[in-house]
Amino acid sequence: MKFFYTQIIPVPDNCVAEFGSRGLCSRCKRAYEESTVVEKGHGLVVDKVYCRKCASLELKEDEKQEFEKTDAKFKCPSEIQKCDANQLSYEEFYVGTCCENASRWTDKKRKLERLEIVNEIYKRSRFAESEAERDAERAMIKI
Ligand SMILES: [Zn+2]
Ligand SMILES: [Zn+2]
Repeated sequence: MKFFYTQIIPVPDNCVAEFGSRGLCSRCKRAYEESTVVEKGHGLVVDKVYCRKCASLELKEDEKQEFEKTDAKFKCPSEIQKCDANQLSYEEFYVGTCCENASRWTDKKRKLERLEIVNEIYKRSRFAESEAERDAERAMIKI
């Protein structure tokens, strides 16, 4: 199975402000871009949250696997001097929207990883944009 970077690289633990209701993978205990929530247990219903990779290992074919964006909130990604931001979305965190240190990507350790993830985010938003344009064109033709 092939995964995108954003699906298998967890956000560093020290950058997670809140895991939210579906942000913490029950298996590997890390936060990712997306997760799926599954009811587990017989009679006693327990919700389990899985990241893409853990879901592929833990869940059977017939178990529901709908992935949705995490509701976790993240802190400033800068390693040098963090600003007070602690409610960042996944995209805001990786792109570094909160302050200058964050946007300059001063963290050398994770630079490459971050670059790959931001590439993924941009690729997808471009794809979503071109889809929207095509929809608009189709709508125009109809008129
Ligand atoms: Zn996991
Ligand atoms: Zn910041």
